[in-house]
Amino acid sequence: MRSGERDQVAYLAEPVPAADVLGSVPEGIAPNRVLRFASHCVSDCANRVGEACGLIERITTVPAEPGPAAVPRCHLRPHCKWWNQVGVEACHRCPALTTLEPRDDELAVLVADPATTREQLESWIAAAP
Ligand code: SF4
Repeated sequence: MRSGERDQVAYLAEPVPAADVLGSVPEGIAPNRVLRFASHCVSDCANRVGEACGLIERITTVPAEPGPAAVPRCHLRPHCKWWNQVGVEACHRCPALTTLEPRDDELAVLVADPATTREQLESWIAAAP
């Protein structure tokens, strides 16, 4: 669930099937505007790089926002691809991630694009004001 001043994800204490909560989203509001859904990896995912997830590699290229070092309490952790791949670095960034396409945020668009390389991200970050 997304909430708070910074629109960060708040993690549920227990998993809830998407079908059980979709009916509580007000009509006219896109469900992914207020909820973030977890899903299994798929073999033909555009972000797959061998056995690894290219998305979390791009995400962790971007420095984490300054703030508390604690990671969220998350029931997904034992099964989380990102946790297993990069550990706590994923959890430090996870609450800020959304499933909406951030068309007005150039860096977020670059991170979301499977074609973006680490070198391109590092160049963008280095040139940012
Ligand atoms: S990255 Fe961390 S906080 Fe996010 S879903 Fe995986 S284990 Fe949970």
